[in-house]
Amino acid sequence: MLDVDKLSLNIPDTTKPRVVIIGGGFGGINVAQRLKCKDFQVVMLDRQNYHGFWPLLYQVATAGLEPDSIAEPLRKMFGSDKFEDFHFRLVKVNGVNPIAKMVHTVVGDLAYDYLIIATGTKTNYFGNDEVKKNSFPLKQVPHALNLRSHLFQCFEQASMTADPELQQSLLNFVIVGGGPTGVETAGALAEMRKHILPTDYPGVDFNRMNIYLVEGMDRVLPPMSPEASEKTLKYLQEMGVVVKLNALVEGYDGYVATIKGGEEIQTQTLVWAAGVQGALIDGLPAEAVERGRILVNRYNQVLGYDDIFAIGDIAFMKTDKWPKGHPGVAQPAIQQGKLLSKNLRRLIKGEKMEEFEYVDKGSLAIIGRNRAVADLPGNIHLGGFFAWMTWLFVHVMALVGFRNKLVVLSNWVYRFFTYENGTRLIIRPFVRKGDTVRQQFINKYNTE
Ligand SMILES: Cc1cc2nc3c(=O)[nH]c(=O)nc-3n(C[C@H](O)[C@H](O)[C@H](O)COP(=O)(O)OP(=O)(O)OC[C@H]3O[C@@H](n4cnc5c(N)ncnc54)[C@H](O)[C@@H]3O)c2cc1C
Repeated sequence: MLDVDKLSLNIPDTTKPRVVIIGGGFGGINVAQRLKCKDFQVVMLDRQNYHGFWPLLYQVATAGLEPDSIAEPLRKMFGSDKFEDFHFRLVKVNGVNPIAKMVHTVVGDLAYDYLIIATGTKTNYFGNDEVKKNSFPLKQVPHALNLRSHLFQCFEQASMTADPELQQSLLNFVIVGGGPTGVETAGALAEMRKHILPTDYPGVDFNRMNIYLVEGMDRVLPPMSPEASEKTLKYLQEMGVVVKLNALVEGYDGYVATIKGGEEIQTQTLVWAAGVQGALIDGLPAEAVERGRILVNRYNQVLGYDDIFAIGDIAFMKTDKWPKGHPGVAQPAIQQGKLLSKNLRRLIKGEKMEEFEYVDKGSLAIIGRNRAVADLPGNIHLGGFFAWMTWLFVHVMALVGFRNKLVVLSNWVYRFFTYENGTRLIIRPFVRKGDTVRQQFINKYNTE
């Protein structure tokens, strides 16, 4: 049995300013990559040992890609052959003490000269504990593997029951949230229903499989242009997804999803992609936090501190152009990370730092084969094949690591010609604690 008391962060002492980065996501890696360490000691702390490329997470959940191809080990990215005086530790940060200039972890504390909080977001259930307990989130690699396993267990069970009501609930899939994750997951499921499932499960009538996409607002992809929303709705409907707009899921007990107004859908699967909130770290004063994100100035300095920075999804930078903060997508995190590395160098030389100005490079979403939407700078809106090609190109290029680019590209080429989703494996990384309703079901049908 591991004795946690015998572990410590074990970071070498240094005479250089120590920069501690919490989080190896898009923001964290972009600041660290550019802080080549003549001037600083850099310590990165993350609760997972890889950088995750979340835009392709839904493909892991829908058996399109292996999890390894959308993640890159942080130690590989920052190996000592490339980075001097860089130290990674696999640990969750529990809190910070801005007065003592310390971060707290389960294996000990660490002093910092500069602290960068780049912790991103976590799923927001808006206080609905029942939904939290019974639904499937899609934010981390284990979530995607869990959902993938569950989807295929549903199909297996659907092929083993003569009870029409049970079979229907196994073949009803409810996805809550019409943002990119919800839309892309619904589209991928619809493609699977058309091309894969009828041959894998010849005894099941997949005309009975329903995919519901439930969105609280009056259009899908609310952060994108109305043109993109309209095209996406049309594509989803052509693919047989039932889109419910202005609809709020109020409850889900593991069997029945209840929509405000009284409509009920019998389902074994509810995917919760309806919202995120900042992954806050304890210890910052309440006035530094607004709407669950950390208030920062134009240099990403946390309100009230010169030596603490927040970047990416967790940072709330209000500007005239972005009064509600920047969108929760990868580009602000990448751009803030890059600028912060330059600003830290300026700071230690006593030079003036540069203010952050977000360059909006546009937004993309994919719905299915030859069906995607793109809002590009200059008020250009693309749809169909060109947007689809743009989506494929941008995502392969943005992936971290040559191996990942190669594996993803070859997977997509293979799938384009064969219509095969290759990773239809039931491998559960964990069974959720307290999941009694689902566990009873699993026990009853003895399939796990
Ligand atoms: C399913 C999904 C699909 C998405 N699709 C798109 C898309 O198509 N296009 C797009 O631009 N954006 C997309 N996004 C959003 C994009 O991924 C985020 O905007 C981006 O990751 C933000 O970067 P970040 O560095 O702020 O946080 P992240 O990349 O989330 O990184 C945060 C890191 O902090 C670590 N961490 C958190 N808390 C702690 C702690 N207490 N201690 C230690 N480590 C901690 C986490 O493990 C993680 O590695 C998607 C996100 C998700 C979840």
